[in-house]
Amino acid sequence: MSEEGQMSTKNTDKDSFAVQGKLALPYTYFAGRVGSKFLTTIRDQKKIMGTKCPTCGKVYLPPRQVCQKDFTDIRNNWVDVGSSGTVVNFTVVRYEDRHLARKPPYVIAMIKLDGADTPMAHILDGLKPEDVKKGMRVEAVFAEKTTTTILDIDHFKPEAERAKTGWRPKAARKPYVPEPESGIEDKRRGGKPDMSKPVIICAALAGAATMKNQTPAVPYTPSEFAEDAYKCWKAGAAMVHVHAREDNGMPTHDHERIRTTHDAIKQRCPELIVNLSSAVGMGKTAEQRISQIVAVKPEMASLNTNTMNFSLLDRKSGKIFIDFVFENTFTMLQDFGKAMEENGVKPEIEVYDMGGLDNTMLIAKQGFFTNPMNFNFVWGVAGGQAFRVETFVALMNALPAKANFTTCGVGLDQFPAIMQSGILGGHMRVGLEDNIRMPDGELAKGSWEQVEVAVHAAECLGRGVATPDEARAIMGIHKR
Ligand SMILES: [Zn+2]
Repeated sequence: MSEEGQMSTKNTDKDSFAVQGKLALPYTYFAGRVGSKFLTTIRDQKKIMGTKCPTCGKVYLPPRQVCQKDFTDIRNNWVDVGSSGTVVNFTVVRYEDRHLARKPPYVIAMIKLDGADTPMAHILDGLKPEDVKKGMRVEAVFAEKTTTTILDIDHFKPEAERAKTGWRPKAARKPYVPEPESGIEDKRRGGKPDMSKPVIICAALAGAATMKNQTPAVPYTPSEFAEDAYKCWKAGAAMVHVHAREDNGMPTHDHERIRTTHDAIKQRCPELIVNLSSAVGMGKTAEQRISQIVAVKPEMASLNTNTMNFSLLDRKSGKIFIDFVFENTFTMLQDFGKAMEENGVKPEIEVYDMGGLDNTMLIAKQGFFTNPMNFNFVWGVAGGQAFRVETFVALMNALPAKANFTTCGVGLDQFPAIMQSGILGGHMRVGLEDNIRMPDGELAKGSWEQVEVAVHAAECLGRGVATPDEARAIMGIHKR
């Protein structure tokens, strides 16, 4: 050992001392493109975004530029992961340091947000460290003043108790049994709705105008229709309403394509009622519209009741995008109605305003419509009526005795319209043809998710939902 070494060893005990100093170290740190977007989205929108790998489906939070598993470049594939999640692990910080964000003791938790597959570390506040548990539900609390750091999420706190939305009746509903003729023509008389029937839920899967660039959930091919119909049936729908499409999404009047689509649905869920459109899509001739119904013979088909504007307008500015006249003359109403009745296809009578209902009742004097007649009140078509509570009641009161009614609304009219129908003893149509969103404005994962809303509404009213066979009994549909 050197002399110097001996010196330092010898001197350590008595000479060691702490120097109080200060290092000022300003620095700029580039968070990276991905990290920057992550932070600025939290700052500007109070929204937490991760990146999703399209190859393996993994959602990274904090977001990554490249998938760790398969090296897919995911920097532009952003997804909203929500602001609630679960504590997967945690530690309690017990030492004090002026650089720490909180005075000890406090909790740093690994939190897996609901839309993410990886956890992020953050401060968990609002409870005692000894009360923190793995698996507990927490939610983000955003900072009031931004620092453009991760502390724009100030902390996470235990998730607030929410109203329970998963309510379901405990007992199964009794099967629907039609009441014997009572001599009273219509239980609605005196303003009292007939709530005795379970709600028939129809899912309008596609329509002629909903395209995959608006929502990827809309079906085009027969197998997509079949799968979607199956999900709706599992969710509680008794019926699906179908406009068949070509592979590229164009609505078609081709008999073979319509038959293949119809049969694919029936093969996937034989019990379900398939209701085909006799409108098909814009610009089809009367012959193209009705011949496919006669050829395929679905259990039910739409019957349109008045010539009207049927256009595409910007709802905010009133600007016209597509101006189209939807032709439904008296002759067509008569010929289509007769063709359906003669072929055992129950008409679903589409009512876009009171005039259409009046037209139908005029033609009905010829006597070819079989009872009960089934009407669908349609709201929100640009060219038809907007949804109004009192208009709904007026239409209902104008129906012939024993008639059934259901309803559908375009866009935001969808859910209020089915709620009112439910209260008044009517039925409900939902689906991506009419509306691509859920009540909270999120894109629906499919028509089936809107069916779940209708099921819930029907159960809350104490009516429950009709099975397909119950729907046939109520609507007078011949099973095929
Ligand atoms: Zn991957």
